[in-house]
Amino acid sequence: MRDVIAIDGPSGSGKTTVAKLIAQEIGYRYLDTGALYRTVAFALRKNMVDSDDSDERIAEVLSQNRIMFQDGKVFLNGVDVSDTIRSTEIDHYSSVFSARKVVRDFLLDAQRDAARRGNLVAEGRDTTTVVFPGAQTKIFLNASVEERAKRRYLQYRGQGITISMDEAKKSIIDRDARDAGRDIAPLTISSDALVIDSSVLSIEQVKESILEYLKKSTSAGLRK
Ligand code: C5P
Repeated sequence: MRDVIAIDGPSGSGKTTVAKLIAQEIGYRYLDTGALYRTVAFALRKNMVDSDDSDERIAEVLSQNRIMFQDGKVFLNGVDVSDTIRSTEIDHYSSVFSARKVVRDFLLDAQRDAARRGNLVAEGRDTTTVVFPGAQTKIFLNASVEERAKRRYLQYRGQGITISMDEAKKSIIDRDARDAGRDIAPLTISSDALVIDSSVLSIEQVKESILEYLKKSTSAGLRK
Protein backbone atom coordinates (compact mmCIF):
# COMPACT_ATOMS: atom_id res chain seq x y z
CA MET A 1 0.00 0.00 0.00
CA ARG A 2 1.24 3.50 -0.84
CA ASP A 3 0.66 6.59 1.30
CA VAL A 4 -3.06 6.88 2.12
CA ILE A 5 -4.87 9.86 3.57
CA ALA A 6 -8.29 8.60 4.68
CA ILE A 7 -11.12 11.04 5.36
CA ASP A 8 -14.45 9.92 6.82
CA GLY A 9 -17.51 11.84 7.86
CA PRO A 10 -21.27 12.09 7.51
CA SER A 11 -23.01 13.40 4.44
CA GLY A 12 -22.61 17.12 3.88
CA SER A 13 -19.50 17.40 6.05
CA GLY A 14 -17.54 18.68 3.05
CA LYS A 15 -15.25 15.68 2.71
CA THR A 16 -15.67 15.23 -1.05
CA THR A 17 -14.71 18.82 -1.86
CA VAL A 18 -11.84 18.86 0.62
CA ALA A 19 -10.47 15.45 -0.40
CA LYS A 20 -10.39 16.56 -4.04
CA LEU A 21 -8.57 19.79 -3.16
CA ILE A 22 -6.00 18.04 -0.96
CA ALA A 23 -5.34 15.41 -3.64
CA GLN A 24 -4.83 18.13 -6.23
CA GLU A 25 -2.54 20.13 -3.95
CA ILE A 26 -0.20 17.26 -3.07
CA GLY A 27 -0.45 15.32 -6.34
CA TYR A 28 -2.21 12.23 -4.99
CA ARG A 29 -4.97 10.25 -6.63
CA TYR A 30 -8.45 10.79 -5.29
CA LEU A 31 -11.10 8.19 -4.48
CA ASP A 32 -14.72 9.03 -3.68
CA THR A 33 -15.96 5.75 -2.16
CA GLY A 34 -19.48 7.19 -1.78
CA ALA A 35 -19.62 7.45 -5.59
CA LEU A 36 -18.98 3.69 -5.78
CA TYR A 37 -21.82 2.95 -3.33
CA ARG A 38 -24.08 5.33 -5.22
CA THR A 39 -23.28 3.60 -8.52
CA VAL A 40 -24.02 0.20 -7.00
CA ALA A 41 -27.40 1.53 -5.83
CA PHE A 42 -28.06 3.00 -9.28
CA ALA A 43 -27.20 -0.30 -11.01
CA LEU A 44 -29.37 -2.30 -8.59
CA ARG A 45 -32.37 0.02 -9.00
CA LYS A 46 -31.96 -0.04 -12.78
CA ASN A 47 -32.33 -3.81 -12.52
CA MET A 48 -35.42 -3.50 -10.29
CA VAL A 49 -33.63 -4.79 -7.20
CA ASP A 50 -35.37 -3.79 -3.97
CA SER A 51 -33.97 -3.36 -0.49
CA ASP A 52 -35.39 -6.65 0.75
CA ASP A 53 -34.17 -8.74 -2.20
CA SER A 54 -31.83 -11.64 -1.46
CA ASP A 55 -28.03 -11.51 -1.34
CA GLU A 56 -28.00 -13.91 -4.29
CA ARG A 57 -30.08 -11.55 -6.43
CA ILE A 58 -27.85 -8.58 -5.50
CA ALA A 59 -24.67 -10.58 -6.18
CA GLU A 60 -26.06 -11.73 -9.52
CA VAL A 61 -26.81 -8.18 -10.70
CA LEU A 62 -23.47 -6.84 -9.43
CA SER A 63 -21.58 -9.59 -11.24
CA GLN A 64 -23.12 -8.37 -14.50
CA ASN A 65 -22.04 -4.75 -14.00
CA ARG A 66 -18.63 -3.07 -14.17
CA ILE A 67 -18.07 -0.10 -11.86
CA MET A 68 -14.94 2.00 -12.13
CA PHE A 69 -13.73 5.25 -10.53
CA GLN A 70 -11.22 7.19 -12.56
CA ASP A 71 -9.98 10.80 -12.56
CA GLY A 72 -12.77 12.00 -10.29
CA LYS A 73 -15.53 10.33 -12.32
CA VAL A 74 -17.46 7.13 -11.83
CA PHE A 75 -18.40 4.79 -14.67
CA LEU A 76 -21.03 2.08 -14.92
CA ASN A 77 -20.27 -0.30 -17.79
CA GLY A 78 -18.14 2.41 -19.41
CA VAL A 79 -20.81 5.14 -19.10
CA ASP A 80 -20.06 8.21 -16.96
CA VAL A 81 -22.80 8.29 -14.29
CA SER A 82 -21.13 10.88 -12.01
CA ASP A 83 -24.04 13.33 -12.27
CA THR A 84 -26.87 10.78 -12.52
CA ILE A 85 -26.02 9.28 -9.12
CA ARG A 86 -26.46 12.66 -7.33
CA SER A 87 -30.21 12.40 -6.78
CA THR A 88 -32.44 12.20 -3.72
CA GLU A 89 -33.47 8.66 -4.73
CA ILE A 90 -29.86 7.49 -4.84
CA ASP A 91 -29.09 9.33 -1.57
CA HIS A 92 -31.63 7.00 -0.03
CA TYR A 93 -30.85 3.73 -1.80
CA SER A 94 -27.05 4.08 -1.52
CA SER A 95 -27.39 4.21 2.25
CA VAL A 96 -29.90 1.34 2.28
CA PHE A 97 -27.88 -1.01 0.04
CA SER A 98 -24.53 -0.08 1.63
CA ALA A 99 -25.67 -1.78 4.85
CA ARG A 100 -25.61 -5.14 3.00
CA LYS A 101 -22.48 -7.27 3.42
CA VAL A 102 -22.72 -8.53 -0.15
CA VAL A 103 -22.43 -4.92 -1.40
CA ARG A 104 -19.57 -3.96 0.94
CA ASP A 105 -17.61 -7.10 0.01
CA PHE A 106 -18.15 -6.35 -3.67
CA LEU A 107 -16.54 -2.90 -3.33
CA LEU A 108 -13.75 -3.65 -0.86
CA ASP A 109 -11.12 -4.87 -3.33
CA ALA A 110 -11.78 -2.08 -5.82
CA GLN A 111 -11.12 0.48 -3.07
CA ARG A 112 -7.93 -1.20 -1.82
CA ASP A 113 -6.75 -1.63 -5.36
CA ALA A 114 -6.76 2.16 -5.81
CA ALA A 115 -4.10 2.39 -3.07
CA ARG A 116 -1.92 -0.17 -4.82
CA ARG A 117 -1.79 2.00 -7.89
CA GLY A 118 -0.49 5.17 -6.21
CA ASN A 119 -0.61 7.54 -3.25
CA LEU A 120 -4.23 8.21 -2.42
CA VAL A 121 -6.69 10.53 -0.73
CA ALA A 122 -9.79 8.40 -0.05
CA GLU A 123 -13.02 9.59 1.49
CA GLY A 124 -16.19 7.90 2.72
CA ARG A 125 -17.64 6.36 5.87
CA ASP A 126 -15.26 3.50 6.69
CA THR A 127 -12.01 4.41 4.91
CA THR A 128 -10.27 5.13 8.26
CA THR A 129 -11.61 2.04 10.02
CA VAL A 130 -12.21 -0.84 7.58
CA VAL A 131 -10.87 -0.14 4.11
CA PHE A 132 -7.54 1.42 5.12
CA PRO A 133 -7.05 0.77 8.85
CA GLY A 134 -3.30 1.22 8.28
CA ALA A 135 -3.63 4.63 6.59
CA GLN A 136 -0.82 6.98 7.63
CA THR A 137 -3.23 9.89 8.03
CA LYS A 138 -6.82 9.71 9.24
CA ILE A 139 -9.26 12.59 9.38
CA PHE A 140 -12.86 12.67 10.59
CA LEU A 141 -14.73 15.62 9.17
CA ASN A 142 -17.96 16.65 10.84
CA ALA A 143 -20.44 19.55 10.87
CA SER A 144 -23.76 20.30 12.55
CA VAL A 145 -26.91 18.76 11.09
CA GLU A 146 -28.25 22.27 10.29
CA GLU A 147 -25.13 23.24 8.36
CA ARG A 148 -24.99 19.94 6.48
CA ALA A 149 -28.68 20.18 5.57
CA LYS A 150 -28.12 23.72 4.28
CA ARG A 151 -25.21 22.56 2.10
CA ARG A 152 -27.26 19.67 0.69
CA TYR A 153 -30.21 21.99 0.05
CA LEU A 154 -28.02 24.46 -1.86
CA GLN A 155 -26.32 21.66 -3.79
CA TYR A 156 -29.68 20.31 -4.97
CA ARG A 157 -30.98 23.75 -5.80
CA GLY A 158 -27.83 24.26 -7.90
CA GLN A 159 -28.60 21.01 -9.74
CA GLY A 160 -32.17 22.18 -10.41
CA ILE A 161 -33.63 19.58 -7.99
CA THR A 162 -36.59 20.91 -5.99
CA ILE A 163 -36.29 20.10 -2.29
CA SER A 164 -37.31 21.98 0.85
CA MET A 165 -34.92 22.70 3.71
CA ASP A 166 -36.98 20.37 5.94
CA GLU A 167 -36.71 17.53 3.41
CA ALA A 168 -32.95 18.07 3.12
CA LYS A 169 -32.64 17.94 6.91
CA LYS A 170 -34.78 14.83 7.23
CA SER A 171 -32.79 13.05 4.53
CA ILE A 172 -29.51 13.90 6.33
CA ILE A 173 -30.86 12.68 9.70
CA ASP A 174 -32.20 9.43 8.19
CA ARG A 175 -28.93 8.74 6.40
CA ASP A 176 -26.85 9.52 9.53
CA ALA A 177 -28.95 7.06 11.52
CA ARG A 178 -28.62 4.30 8.93
CA ASP A 179 -24.89 4.86 8.27
CA ALA A 180 -23.93 5.04 11.95
CA GLY A 181 -26.42 2.43 13.13
CA ARG A 182 -25.68 -0.45 10.77
CA ASP A 183 -23.90 -3.61 11.94
CA ILE A 184 -21.23 -3.70 9.25
CA ALA A 185 -18.66 -0.91 8.90
CA PRO A 186 -20.74 1.78 10.61
CA LEU A 187 -19.70 5.41 10.45
CA THR A 188 -17.57 5.92 13.53
CA ILE A 189 -14.63 8.05 14.62
CA SER A 190 -11.37 6.11 14.50
CA SER A 191 -9.41 6.63 17.74
CA ASP A 192 -6.35 7.79 15.78
CA ALA A 193 -8.20 10.29 13.56
CA LEU A 194 -7.88 14.04 13.67
CA VAL A 195 -11.43 15.38 14.15
CA ILE A 196 -12.33 18.62 12.38
CA ASP A 197 -15.69 20.36 12.75
CA SER A 198 -16.34 22.26 9.55
CA SER A 199 -19.59 23.94 10.71
CA VAL A 200 -18.05 27.39 10.88
CA LEU A 201 -15.03 26.85 8.63
CA SER A 202 -14.73 27.57 4.93
CA ILE A 203 -13.56 24.77 2.62
CA GLU A 204 -10.28 26.69 2.26
CA GLN A 205 -9.80 26.74 6.05
CA VAL A 206 -10.49 23.00 6.33
CA LYS A 207 -8.03 22.33 3.53
CA GLU A 208 -5.36 24.47 5.20
CA SER A 209 -5.79 22.76 8.57
CA ILE A 210 -5.39 19.33 6.96
CA LEU A 211 -2.31 20.44 5.02
CA GLU A 212 -0.85 21.86 8.25
CA TYR A 213 -1.54 18.55 10.02
CA LEU A 214 0.17 16.64 7.18
CA LYS A 215 3.21 18.89 7.43
CA LYS A 216 3.45 18.49 11.20
CA SER A 217 3.03 14.73 11.21
CA THR A 218 5.59 14.39 8.41
CA SER A 219 8.21 16.43 10.26
CA ALA A 220 7.49 14.53 13.48
CA GLY A 221 8.31 11.34 11.57
CA LEU A 222 4.78 9.98 11.87
CA ARG A 223 4.44 9.76 8.09
CA LYS A 224 6.99 9.52 5.32
O1 C5P B 1 -20.55 10.02 0.55
P1 C5P B 1 -21.91 9.87 -0.10
O2 C5P B 1 -22.96 10.67 0.57
O3 C5P B 1 -21.87 10.09 -1.57
O4 C5P B 1 -22.26 8.33 0.11
C1 C5P B 1 -23.52 7.79 -0.23
C2 C5P B 1 -23.86 6.66 0.72
O5 C5P B 1 -22.96 5.56 0.50
C3 C5P B 1 -23.73 7.00 2.20
O6 C5P B 1 -24.91 7.52 2.76
C4 C5P B 1 -23.36 5.66 2.82
O7 C5P B 1 -24.51 4.93 3.16
C5 C5P B 1 -22.66 4.91 1.71
N1 C5P B 1 -21.21 4.84 1.92
C6 C5P B 1 -20.73 3.83 2.74
N2 C5P B 1 -19.39 3.68 2.91
C7 C5P B 1 -18.52 4.51 2.31
C8 C5P B 1 -19.00 5.57 1.49
C9 C5P B 1 -20.37 5.71 1.33
O8 C5P B 1 -21.50 3.07 3.31
N3 C5P B 1 -17.21 4.32 2.47
